[in-house]
Amino acid sequence: MDQLKVYAGKIREWMNAHRQELVDFTMEMMRIESTTYHEGEAVAWLKAKMEEFGFDEVRVDSAGNLIGRAGSGPCIVLADAHIDTVEPGDPKDWGFDPLDPRIIDGHIWGRGIVDDKGCLAALVFAGRALKQLALDHAATLWVSSSIAEEDVEGSCVRAMMEEFSDIQPHMILVAEASGNRIIRGHKGRALISMEVTGKAAHASAAWRGENALIKSLPLMQAVDDLKDLPEDPVLGKGTIEVTNVDCDTPSLNTIPGKVTITADRRISCGESREALIDELKPFLDGCGAKAWIDVEQITTYTGKTIEQEDFFPSWILPEDHPVIQSACSGYQAVRGESPSVGTWDFCTNACYLCGITGIPSVGFGPGDEGLCHSTEERLSIQELTDAASVYASVVLSYALQGKDA
Ligand SMILES: [Zn+2]
Repeated sequence: MDQLKVYAGKIREWMNAHRQELVDFTMEMMRIESTTYHEGEAVAWLKAKMEEFGFDEVRVDSAGNLIGRAGSGPCIVLADAHIDTVEPGDPKDWGFDPLDPRIIDGHIWGRGIVDDKGCLAALVFAGRALKQLALDHAATLWVSSSIAEEDVEGSCVRAMMEEFSDIQPHMILVAEASGNRIIRGHKGRALISMEVTGKAAHASAAWRGENALIKSLPLMQAVDDLKDLPEDPVLGKGTIEVTNVDCDTPSLNTIPGKVTITADRRISCGESREALIDELKPFLDGCGAKAWIDVEQITTYTGKTIEQEDFFPSWILPEDHPVIQSACSGYQAVRGESPSVGTWDFCTNACYLCGITGIPSVGFGPGDEGLCHSTEERLSIQELTDAASVYASVVLSYALQGKDA
């Protein structure tokens, strides 16, 4: 702990001395529009910056994820923040162009500052600090700037980890807004398709057919009524919601012969794919429907096609897990107080990085997660600077803990 305190003191001092640079860097990144599937220009810019900052190695995979390494210590941490953002939104609603960030009362305002460019900038400066303070012998920090998280969380980091299978982290740090809490888990998710078939017929002679849309109504109602799903004591109950209905019909004067219902299922207790389908069985049988887990296909900005099953289990680490404990120590060494530990309500890239690979993960990020995607996205410069210090300190805390063990 004493060693960590010394390290954290140096990091904080370095970060405070580079605060203006961090602010300028963050705002410059925000000026480069990088909505999902259009991240190329921002990735190229950030790659050049990582090289300029003395990262030991910088790579871009075939999907377009960027990953840079600072340090070469035996303890390997992969810290991920996504570079894509949702659409900027209407400047009228913001009161200014959200791609031209403003500083108002010590806060940076604009699209992406909370979700997730503030976190990404803080990680890059954490890596830079480790290099410049010659602390990079203690740990290896891989900073990944992943793409398309807003649309298909988990999918693109999976492609990156599979392509760069030589990178074998001991710990994952997922950098997303957490209101400065240390995050130890979140629910998983699945998209379930349910197909109801009837018989198409001209609407003027509907008696000749069977309207699949009307036939599917009890199924939709039953899914909506399904509230008593398995509950985890920390993550809470699972949920299921109907999110789309697709009618297979050639014209608007035909009763549809086939309907596909999509439902978003949030998973709390590590249920299997089969369990998710089985719990719907009584309702499916009632209307002769079949159900399956969706597979989605996306094409990234580089033109690479990625296929991903829409099934990611939940993840949760016990509060006394070494990864959670070292994150808490790293935070405390910088901020002088112990953090609160909690869970996220939303899904992040940790659904793959921890949920599927099983590598112990922790989440942390500056900013209010309730501001994500809103026209009030803003982050205090003090919080941004502190978060950069916390990231570097958490990496060293974990490395020191490994040494002690
Ligand atoms: Zn995000």
